[in-house]
Amino acid sequence: MKFVLASHNRGKLVEMQKILGELGVEVVLQSDLGLDLEPEETGTTFAENSLIKAKAVMEASGLPAIADDSGLCVDWLNGAPGIYSARYGGLDDDKERYALLLQNLRGATNRGAHFHTAIVCCFPNGDVLQADGDCYGTIAFAPRGEGGFGYDPIFNVPSLRKTFAELTAEEKNAISHRGNALRDFAVKLKDYMEKN
Ligand code: IMP
Repeated sequence: MKFVLASHNRGKLVEMQKILGELGVEVVLQSDLGLDLEPEETGTTFAENSLIKAKAVMEASGLPAIADDSGLCVDWLNGAPGIYSARYGGLDDDKERYALLLQNLRGATNRGAHFHTAIVCCFPNGDVLQADGDCYGTIAFAPRGEGGFGYDPIFNVPSLRKTFAELTAEEKNAISHRGNALRDFAVKLKDYMEKN
């Protein structure tokens, strides 16, 4: 079965193929099909935004479409930046965004946070699969590490005493919200394909 990933990000495609390839499915990027649509993410949850993206690409391609949406939810900030993680403070730059977050946590007595990913797959017959993944940690007092992207340098994994930016891609993938959501999705997709 052929799936379209509602994204232009080849790194995401490679991660997805690693896990879904084992199920014998083929995944292509929407850009590989010449689809440059970018639906507005007007949802109020990660899952709603994933559904908007997956549905739009499924309708445009006629193929089952997969979309994901992720973000960082900080306890002290009542779950912010959450679905607005990519545009926190209206800032364009990863470093500026995490600097603002650190500033907003000055004096905080709780530095708990988690990343969340929601994956949604829409099939042309109307069926919808949803999978979720989390990774819990704390917000560091200062950035550490050179790897990863986004908020990785300030997201501390207490059991490893390292930030996401200090892990290899494999180490991060083994515990990350996206890795967990992908593994959950693979189980649900396998089950779906066995029944259909
Ligand atoms: P997306 O939905 O995967 O594009 O993620 C939205 C935003 O959440 C990104 O632009 C990052 O700011 C943040 N984010 C999501 N996943 C991660 C991660 O694994 N590390 C750091 N930041 C992340």
